[in-house]
Amino acid sequence: MSEPNELKKVYPVCFWCGTTFQEAVILGDEFTPEQKGAIPERCVLHYDPCPKCTSEWTQGCVFIEYGFDATYDGQPALERPDGTKFYPTGRLVVLNTEKAVAMFGKDGGDIEPISFLTKENFGAVFEREPEILCFWCGEPKTGVKSAEKRLKSVSDYEPCETCRKKYSGKCVLFECDYAPNQKSVDGVSVKVLGKSMYPTGRLMRLDFKVAARLLGPDTGDFVYVPTDKFKFLSGEVKQKRGGLNESKVSLRRNDDY
Ligand SMILES: [Zn+2]
Ligand SMILES: [Zn+2]
Repeated sequence: MSEPNELKKVYPVCFWCGTTFQEAVILGDEFTPEQKGAIPERCVLHYDPCPKCTSEWTQGCVFIEYGFDATYDGQPALERPDGTKFYPTGRLVVLNTEKAVAMFGKDGGDIEPISFLTKENFGAVFEREPEILCFWCGEPKTGVKSAEKRLKSVSDYEPCETCRKKYSGKCVLFECDYAPNQKSVDGVSVKVLGKSMYPTGRLMRLDFKVAARLLGPDTGDFVYVPTDKFKFLSGEVKQKRGGLNESKVSLRRNDDY
């Protein structure tokens, strides 16, 4: 039991990582004796990051998730200007400033060093599995369907099941550049005879018989072909049948946090 006016020494705990601060805080008359009695000697008193967390936070922009209900009994509340109380959930993401500006900056504007996001927004931004699109047809392969472009990406050159079905029964040649091109997925290449190549999105379907004649008898179903060879072959084939398919996707991968 605390007596009236008795001071109480409390060591604050960092809400974010659980480290105990070195310096104690003296609780005075701003707390009633009952409150003081209920406060343990080590506890979260505020949301100031400890030195270790501070050094992480200053690496970029901090996004903090909050809700309107306390996550545990006695959690200190924060207050909006309109008086609404809110409570950090403990989850946060530190993004390097460049990335944060790319994601949230309007017209390349500055971002606050610390932003608070509701659970819904935090989840939408940082947890939602991005929709992976088929490089060739632009349709989703996996992930949560989203209207937001930011949550869509192409991660590889594997045709989706629909494309595979559509192309089955024929030999498919995928044109590839020797260097990354506008359509290629950042940092992802295919290997053609041990060399890194980058599909352009153009493809050509050939009867197996024709493919065997042009490319050799061991030609598989899906073949990556360097652009010079592709152009030569398409010239050969075009005389018989017109038109090449082109992939509809030109999104870039930009969702690595
Ligand atoms: Zn900390
Ligand atoms: Zn597809």
